[in-house]
Amino acid sequence: MEQKLNLLTRCPLCGHTETETFLQSKDYSYSKEDFKIESCKSCGFKFTNPIPTEESIGNYYKSDIYISHNDSNKGLMNKVYKWVRKRAIKSKERIVSDLTSQKNILDIGCGTGDFLGFCKEHGWSTKGLEPDPGAREKCLSKGIDVANIDELHNPNFHKVNVITMWHVLEHVYHLQRDFKRMVDLLEDNGVMVIAVPNHISYDAKKYHEFWAAYDLPIHLYHFKPKDIELLAEQHHLKFERMIPMKWDAYYVSMLSESFKGRNKWLGLKTGFLSNMKAKNGEYSSQIYILRKK
Ligand SMILES: [Zn+2]
Repeated sequence: MEQKLNLLTRCPLCGHTETETFLQSKDYSYSKEDFKIESCKSCGFKFTNPIPTEESIGNYYKSDIYISHNDSNKGLMNKVYKWVRKRAIKSKERIVSDLTSQKNILDIGCGTGDFLGFCKEHGWSTKGLEPDPGAREKCLSKGIDVANIDELHNPNFHKVNVITMWHVLEHVYHLQRDFKRMVDLLEDNGVMVIAVPNHISYDAKKYHEFWAAYDLPIHLYHFKPKDIELLAEQHHLKFERMIPMKWDAYYVSMLSESFKGRNKWLGLKTGFLSNMKAKNGEYSSQIYILRKK
């Protein structure tokens, strides 16, 4: 496809203008086009640059690998993924339940609404935002209150006690603008629950340019714990803690093996090692709990 690119001249996290190349890789799952990750010389944040324009980036979400947006049930990998996702949904609900007594939740990038559906069954008042019309359709068919992502900036939007973003923040085109809006939508003492991949994990270092969680170009940002700490500080949130997502090490390592042209099941060993070797803050993907002061 014809590339329409947007070259960022500032670090999306701290605004600094000097960068250096961190790695060169490509879109393995769909377009096969080359992309590059840069590192900010001031804060060290890693971000994809250049990125597809806001108008064209939707074209890169058409991969079959992007299974979170469809409910088809083909292939063993997909079956395992769905089984894990079911268990993961339960544990996610348990995590958010422990954070608040006000069961009022906004899930940004809610996909087909499985997490919100589970929350709703467990007494939560739920709202989802999702850019993909097909995924929104599926939410509505499950009786989930969902709107297009633009609604985030609707001035009449009600405040909530919990905002969740499960592997979503790395896709948000206007990071600072939209994050600020999300913080505004939180009640005092409300919590932001953010799950993102972590490029200082063992599996990230092992696979480097083949690491599937770089997911170029649709992952615009590549977070490590320090970056989330800085983001929290910029928006006056309290960084409470991190929770590992151990299943992700397996899934991401399997995909990474397949990107290398190897047998994906080899990734199970890397996933296991990644979890074994990880100290606090070094898991393949992590959940960050940030609280509004
Ligand atoms: Zn920076």
